[in-house]
Amino acid sequence: MMIEEKKLTKEERQEIRFIKKETMTCAKYLRRMEELDGMPGELQPFLDTLRTVYVDMKNPLEQYHQKTVGTYCVMAPQELVYAAGAIPVKLCSGNYTAFSIGDDLYPRDACPLVKAVAGFQKMGLMPVYRDCSLMAVPVTCDCKKKIVEMLEQTHSVVPLSVPAGREDEDIDRYVEELYRFIGTLEVVTGNHVTWDSLAVGMNIAGQAKYELSRFLKLKKSMPYLMWGTHILAVMNAAAYMRADAWSFHMNRLNSELAKRIEKGEKVTSRNRPRILLTGSPVIFPNMKIPLLIEEMGGILAADETCMGERGMSDPPVVVDDSFDGILRALANQVIRPCSCPTFVNNRERVYRIRQMIKDYQIQGVIYHVLRGCLVYDYEYQLLEEELGKMGIPVIRMESDYNEEDVEQLRIRTEAFIELIRLKQAA
Ligand code: SF4
Ligand code: SF4
Repeated sequence: MMIEEKKLTKEERQEIRFIKKETMTCAKYLRRMEELDGMPGELQPFLDTLRTVYVDMKNPLEQYHQKTVGTYCVMAPQELVYAAGAIPVKLCSGNYTAFSIGDDLYPRDACPLVKAVAGFQKMGLMPVYRDCSLMAVPVTCDCKKKIVEMLEQTHSVVPLSVPAGREDEDIDRYVEELYRFIGTLEVVTGNHVTWDSLAVGMNIAGQAKYELSRFLKLKKSMPYLMWGTHILAVMNAAAYMRADAWSFHMNRLNSELAKRIEKGEKVTSRNRPRILLTGSPVIFPNMKIPLLIEEMGGILAADETCMGERGMSDPPVVVDDSFDGILRALANQVIRPCSCPTFVNNRERVYRIRQMIKDYQIQGVIYHVLRGCLVYDYEYQLLEEELGKMGIPVIRMESDYNEEDVEQLRIRTEAFIELIRLKQAA
């Protein structure tokens, strides 16, 4: 045994350490999610998908024998990937182990999301990343810009220039980008994207959006219907499931939740402060903040993040059903209502958060900033002012992908929840 160990190269030892640490951390977060009371039975397929990807380190999409296309932002329309006969997989990462590898490769102030992507790229051990035939990177911030060159070392990559504004001419420019994206998809998949195949893509994605809208309606009707951490797991699992499979399981989850409502069942009977989480994306396994909110006595009643509900926006509104008209509808859908701070004027986000506060009876807002994510950090002040006018407490929580700050985050979360309680009691 000792002789065999001596034969291992430095790289092989690093790989073994990576696999051990990566799988242990992800298994721990899945366990913590499974331990929350009142988990719906129909949640299991979503958690199993995350387990397949991160603990078993297998590709759950392999079974379909279709090419996969990695996307690094919600602004790459999944409809186009389905239209080309491939499956989209969202590759933004929240992985602590990959982050620690990427930390040595990228500048100190780069955000943890791209450091984790760099870590996976260097190790080349995750099938969902490795198996992609193409990677689509909407260039939304400097960090995204800089991952393009790195990804090109191993994969075909198509960067998409995202406009800074949302005027008609910006949409025109993005339609051009989508045509270019289609061209690359056709080369990589060998399939021609036609009006008919586009209609198929719209249907697959549309069904998932329909099931999400049913889910949100159920959730709005009962604030304590399900833990927000579980909801984020459902939305994160969508990254690695074909949309029809996700819709199938979502339909079953919706039926279970509808029955819960009929019976008046809730995950908690306590009057827990209802929190909205917004800011930088919360990506599995980086579930520190959602879990802390719910373990410290609050409930994550809604999230305004792009790996959560925002990641699957409403279906596109098609007013002209020509091929060009459908592309225009897709460009409109991913750009106009998007509340990502990459846009110059992002008042939309304030309006959306105000609306969510009413819809979900929110009592406090946690603003998540991934260290190095300047675009989100810039918008904190404006939101703080707006929420101040509404009398809604807000706290900025900066974090990255390691567990060293958990205790500090726990203390701050607990104090914030207590503050809301005192405010309620006054
Ligand atoms: S935060 Fe913005 S840039 Fe990043 S994935 Fe979400 S929508 Fe895209
Ligand atoms: S938007 Fe923020 S979290 Fe996303 S890649 Fe850019 S800096 Fe990182």
